[in-house]
Amino acid sequence: MIHNKSLADWCQSHPLIGPLTRVEPVTWFNPALAPTAQALGDVPLSLADVDDASARLERFASYIQSAFPETQASAGIIESPLIALPRLQATLCAEEQLPVQGALWLKADNLLPISGSIKARGGIYEVLKHAEDLALAGGLIQPGACYSTLDSDAARAFFGQYSIAVGSTGNLGLSIGIMSARLGFKATVHMSADARQWKKDRLRACGVTVVEYQSDYSVAVEQGRQQAESDPKCHFVDDENSINLFLGYAVAARRLQHQLVSAGITVDALHPLFVYLPCGVGGGPGGVAFGLKQIFGDAVHCVFAEPTHSPCMLLGVYTGLHDEVSVYDFGIDNRTAADGLAVGRPSGFVGRSMQRLLDGYYTLSDEQMYRLLALLHAEEGLKLEPSALAGLPGFLRVLQEQQGYRQRLGLDAQRLANATHLVWGTGGSMVPAQEMDAYLEQGRTLLAAH
Ligand SMILES: *Cc1c(COP(=O)(O)O)cnc(C)c1O
Repeated sequence: MIHNKSLADWCQSHPLIGPLTRVEPVTWFNPALAPTAQALGDVPLSLADVDDASARLERFASYIQSAFPETQASAGIIESPLIALPRLQATLCAEEQLPVQGALWLKADNLLPISGSIKARGGIYEVLKHAEDLALAGGLIQPGACYSTLDSDAARAFFGQYSIAVGSTGNLGLSIGIMSARLGFKATVHMSADARQWKKDRLRACGVTVVEYQSDYSVAVEQGRQQAESDPKCHFVDDENSINLFLGYAVAARRLQHQLVSAGITVDALHPLFVYLPCGVGGGPGGVAFGLKQIFGDAVHCVFAEPTHSPCMLLGVYTGLHDEVSVYDFGIDNRTAADGLAVGRPSGFVGRSMQRLLDGYYTLSDEQMYRLLALLHAEEGLKLEPSALAGLPGFLRVLQEQQGYRQRLGLDAQRLANATHLVWGTGGSMVPAQEMDAYLEQGRTLLAAH
């Protein structure tokens, strides 16, 4: 029995459970999608909260610029470029015998400075928020002061009284660990078995304590939480529930709005924007999608992408069980090369509060991620880590769907011709060259066999 029902009963009531448990790729367009103005009421946060987070990141820009010289070109703002993918779009459409419609773009979070993944948004934001709270309360800075003084021995000694802990499959640990250690905090990262060795090495080189587990992400998070609870001076970054992480991710939406204007891209009812977001526990894609829905409303269509072996968010939302269900309950093994997405149990906060905001969810195989990794490099010269490819087939799923989704939303031929399809490229620039070469080799082998 699985949550009081046999597998056969589950397959009867929820037809996608069959292919999900057989780890076949599936696509599910959300029948509960509601007008944005209504659905945003389910999330206990507002655009003012996102703008407050954005303003905080601006206050810290002088500090970031001083502490991380690679951010000088952007004056201490951690942001990534938009990159058009015309060749890859043509190739993928030709493969599927589809006409080229609309334009395919990459949001290159793989190029984010400091930690090379989407976690440089939420993770760094949460550490800065905590540092600001402590520094103001402790009189280290005054409201309105220039925060570059936080890049000093005095500030590091102050933050050294406190510690920060987090559980991670890798990238969140990198971003929290690097930022915390640079400010002077004692940092501990609890790493799941999926975490890549180079991520652990990199953190240790920054002076971060890395605790390794033989088990998955949920266990690493739980251990981290328990250790932090016993220490009043330890702040635990709760990837499954943190509002601050979520808001840090959401800031991306305001920035993207300006980038789209600069690129001459219109987003409105006649020019829809589709955004494809790789999903692990859900905080990163959830925060970005929340910000985008605040700004673009019904004109933006957000779709989450997960590995066939770790479809936790799709399973949680589809069954309505949210964080009460784990992929293991359905015999799905949570083993994937997409280490950033290797999560068995979704964030209940994201799944529940965004239930009516997201257009759909789909899964793809590790083999497809590797093939796309090699193809993206061959066609556009870009290098992403496996997790970050999950969003790439999303536009094909939308163009090929036969579930009545496009019709229900009035997404006709004219609108599809005007559409922008944005793939969120969530990570990759910090992957060591040797490791990246091995990824590319694996992808090329699969392409050749195709
Ligand atoms: C963490 C991560 C994601 C997903 O973010 P969640 O908040 O776990 O859903 C996607 N891609 C990469 C590369 C990541 O590191």
